[in-house]
Amino acid sequence: MAELKLLHMYPNLLDLYGDSGNVEILKYRCGLRGIELKVSRRIIGDTDTDFESADIIYLGGGADLEQQMLADDLLKCADGIRAAYENGAFLLMICGGYQLLGQYYLDSNGEKIKGLGLFDYYTEASSDKRKRCIGNIVIETKIDGESYKVIGFENHGGQTKGVKTEFGKVLAGNGNEFSSAIEGYMEENVIATYLHGPLLSKNPKLSDRIISYCMSRQTGEKYTPAAVNDKLEEECREVLLERLLGEK
Ligand code: GLN
Repeated sequence: MAELKLLHMYPNLLDLYGDSGNVEILKYRCGLRGIELKVSRRIIGDTDTDFESADIIYLGGGADLEQQMLADDLLKCADGIRAAYENGAFLLMICGGYQLLGQYYLDSNGEKIKGLGLFDYYTEASSDKRKRCIGNIVIETKIDGESYKVIGFENHGGQTKGVKTEFGKVLAGNGNEFSSAIEGYMEENVIATYLHGPLLSKNPKLSDRIISYCMSRQTGEKYTPAAVNDKLEEECREVLLERLLGEK
């Protein structure tokens, strides 16, 4: 049986709005294609984390407090995460996880959390704690050159700047900053986004984009995931897109 490995970073701390559901969905959609997704976890203090064999490294979202709690431990993982990323492993990061792989996160109390510095972007929150980007959001990204609308929910005080290759264009909601035109950060093997929801339950094609990237990388041949029955998911998406964008 084909196998992929996912390393779930700090599942006990980075799980806002059910973000760990993204791992369940990847596992489920891998299973539909006869691929076993093996999940390992890193929690603070672990010393035996295997970054090298991970096909996917996943960080969910967390509030400022959780981010502060894990920041020092995450810095200890810098070399392992960087090497895996440079070797082509896929990085999926949500909100707090997204912020921490950039240069830094300056929170609303003026405390600066050093990021891994893997990417150029940086994040600063207003000192006014009430100033947050909260609500449903829809963005438009590209998957294999085709437009795809990504639906989610955002709740962040942090304003992320310095993004050169965004995940998508904002159609409704805020994005990287208040009323931003762009949302998230993307490379061929990276998706970083403020979208909770969980992200992958509302956007099944994104899961398949990650699975096909990882399988193609493993086998050296272009992998196209077999079509599955997404009728329910597509009907849900239609309702949400109509509600959020006024689309029929
Ligand atoms: N603490 C960060 C912020 O408020 C991230 C929050 C989150 O992960 N939703 O910007």
